[in-house]
Amino acid sequence: MNKFTGLQANNPKSKKRWTTMDEHFTVESRIAPPALTCPKCNGLLPSALGEIQCELCGANVRTDHEPTRTKWMKEKLSCPSCSKVLIAGVDHRPAELRCGGCGVQFTLEAKVVRVEIECPSCHRGLRMRQRPGQRTINCPACDTTFKVRF
Ligand SMILES: [Zn+2]
Ligand SMILES: [Zn+2]
Ligand SMILES: [Zn+2]
Repeated sequence: MNKFTGLQANNPKSKKRWTTMDEHFTVESRIAPPALTCPKCNGLLPSALGEIQCELCGANVRTDHEPTRTKWMKEKLSCPSCSKVLIAGVDHRPAELRCGGCGVQFTLEAKVVRVEIECPSCHRGLRMRQRPGQRTINCPACDTTFKVRF
């Protein structure tokens, strides 16, 4: 028996209960596309697929990655309302989904890519969001200031 339920298409005649307007659930995807670099400036591109814009030079780049799309389709996640295990069934992020169990609508957000870098002074590992461009980091352990570039 298949213990996973699929997601329902948006059905206006559904008898499921609805959530109030200000209640909106989000779930973060666990799958991110590979880190891609801009063909124009060689900088890191935002973590997304499709038509994206380089945050560093403004170039419009078209990216795609079939293995990521396949993994996105098959990604299992828990409904943020009833905890039922669902299969995303969509090959893009973010995506608006509806739980086939309780009917709640929620947004499946793109994964936030975090990286671990090492402080050049005390060699402590620091975790941070991966964002394109250069950033100044102040190590909380030894108070050394240094620059990182993604
Ligand atoms: Zn660029
Ligand atoms: Zn649910
Ligand atoms: Zn340090």
